[in-house]
Amino acid sequence: MMNRTKEIELIVDLHRNSERQGPGSIEDTLKALGFMNLPLHHNVRIADLGCGTGGQTITLAQHLNCHIVAVDLFPEFLDELNERADLLGFGEKISTQEKSIDALTFEKEELDIIWSEGAIYNIGFENGIRQWKDYLKIGGYIAISEITWISEARPKEIEEYWEREYPEIDTASNKIQILEKNGYTLCGYFFLSENSWIENYYEPMKARFESFLERHNQSALSRKLVDDHRAEIHLYQKYKDYFSYGFYIARKSR
Ligand code: SAH
Repeated sequence: MMNRTKEIELIVDLHRNSERQGPGSIEDTLKALGFMNLPLHHNVRIADLGCGTGGQTITLAQHLNCHIVAVDLFPEFLDELNERADLLGFGEKISTQEKSIDALTFEKEELDIIWSEGAIYNIGFENGIRQWKDYLKIGGYIAISEITWISEARPKEIEEYWEREYPEIDTASNKIQILEKNGYTLCGYFFLSENSWIENYYEPMKARFESFLERHNQSALSRKLVDDHRAEIHLYQKYKDYFSYGFYIARKSR
């Protein structure tokens, strides 16, 4: 396991007792899946990259004849995923790998689908879709949710925030061009709804703040982490008309 800082330990602890570590929903995962034309009878091979505790992994396992390799940096998240999958009777369909999504070890053209919700930003969108393409069969699909500008014009505060946090944030049309330039054909696109942020991600997170702070005896670092998350929630509420996660579904054409 990598050498982890106290801050990373705290981030993992804040996010582990949760069904998801980013905005999303069962409906969004199924909507993205709906854009794919999958063979009915053969077992599809899927990689779920930056899976977290596996909200979407479980949904995919429930709806497909498949085997899923779920990859994340943090073993605590993978343990929860495995526990939940076993409990629901999908253990056989899912295996986990503790590794970085920019150091994957799949075979060339091994995968039918590469899935990644709210995680590709960690290695950069264009870098990710380029690296991952090797592992995908020709005609195979990627489904990626990625922070995206909803509007061409933005207030300065939110523009500057995202320039600092993730300068690769862009409009959907520019992201789609990047996909096309790199040998993918778009099959579908949509924005996550407000519920996928508030009800499914921020509200459950807020409900964990108090017990988290207690577990860490209100340490300065734990309080700073909660304050940072509260600020993120505030910013989302203030500027939700300008950015969301876009869900991109595309096919490897060459
Ligand atoms: N897909 C999940 C989790 C999204 S949060 C969901 O939508 O709920 C982003 C996830 O990416 C976290 O679980 C984090 O641990 C993981 N992650 C961040 N950097 C990573 C890296 N370099 N390699 C693998 N996983 C990474």
